[in-house]
Amino acid sequence: MSYKLFIPGPIAVSEKTLRAMAQPMIGHRSTDFVALYQSLTPQLQAVFSTKDPVYLSTSSAWGVMEGSLRNVVKKKVLCCMNGAFSDKWLDVAQRCGLAAGALKAEWGQPVDPAALRAALATGEYDAVTLIHNETSCGCMSDLPALMAVLRDFPDVTSIVDTISSCSALPIKKDELGIDVMITGSQKAFAMPPGLSIFSVSKRALAKAATITGRGYYFDFLEFQKNHEGGMTPSTPVIPLIYALKSKLEDFAAEGLENRYARHVRLNQKVRDWAFAKGFKLFPKEGYGSVTLNCFANTLNVDLAALNKLLKSKHHLVIDGGYGKLKGKTFRISNMGDETDETIAALLKALDASLAELGVK
Ligand SMILES: *Cc1c(COP(=O)(O)O)cnc(C)c1O
Repeated sequence: MSYKLFIPGPIAVSEKTLRAMAQPMIGHRSTDFVALYQSLTPQLQAVFSTKDPVYLSTSSAWGVMEGSLRNVVKKKVLCCMNGAFSDKWLDVAQRCGLAAGALKAEWGQPVDPAALRAALATGEYDAVTLIHNETSCGCMSDLPALMAVLRDFPDVTSIVDTISSCSALPIKKDELGIDVMITGSQKAFAMPPGLSIFSVSKRALAKAATITGRGYYFDFLEFQKNHEGGMTPSTPVIPLIYALKSKLEDFAAEGLENRYARHVRLNQKVRDWAFAKGFKLFPKEGYGSVTLNCFANTLNVDLAALNKLLKSKHHLVIDGGYGKLKGKTFRISNMGDETDETIAALLKALDASLAELGVK
């Protein structure tokens, strides 16, 4: 049985994107590949708002998240933590044998710019990890405010996870001064998982050159050297690169501004529906994500039963809460290719299923 995903990653992939993947393979050192790769760069730079190269890594996003630590942390990394993914990043830094400190907030609370400033003022740190949109709890921190703090500490390298936000709202990498900006294929890009897309500032690249232990697979210098020839360091996941080409055509056809506006509009539609039912947003007011909503299960709905009904009768699934929030919250994605029609159909299915469970 096939069903549609409204979980916040992986998300539904269009027929057009799936078909784009089903093309004959080309050699990854061929002129055809170089032409394909080089055709993507200008559009990716537009999505990232950067003049720096945008690299393609055959890995899930975590590959580059871990790799970034190995490339730019010399002294000690400060991990800003306010959800499952950002909490994990500290663990990953420690597993890499790096000195790492924590700037902790409760899940659902945004990263606090004043607390970030105070932590950096200790002079202990030369790098920061930061998640723009904490998908686990639907909390979007104020990236411009946080980057304004980071710009006051020019010796600190910023590694910013925009994995579930990139392409859904404007994130101006160069203007904000982001050193390493990372996204993944299976979130707002609405592609299958397996490709990570990232961009590195010149100063971060120069710093990486002074660091040993970068390894090979995620070595920024390897990505840069190969990028100059229109290639990737190792054999890439070519079908996903075909998908990316197709997806960037979709972005261009819609227009990025329209794409951003659509995400805000559909996100609000889901929110309005939930508020009318009596649910509340889990993250702090004013910090709800625009690519998904994480609602507190204030009506004590049996979320497993709800998802069972949604799946069997309406052929779709939502998320019943991440990690320690399982059962206490539910998440609904509106990222990628959703439209007024698909969101309306989802809300209708939710109404019918909740009614069946005795919720008005
Ligand atoms: C999904 C996600 C990740 C992990 O991505 P993978 O592709 O599974 O490695 C990291 N950070 C955020 C914010 C995410 O949403």
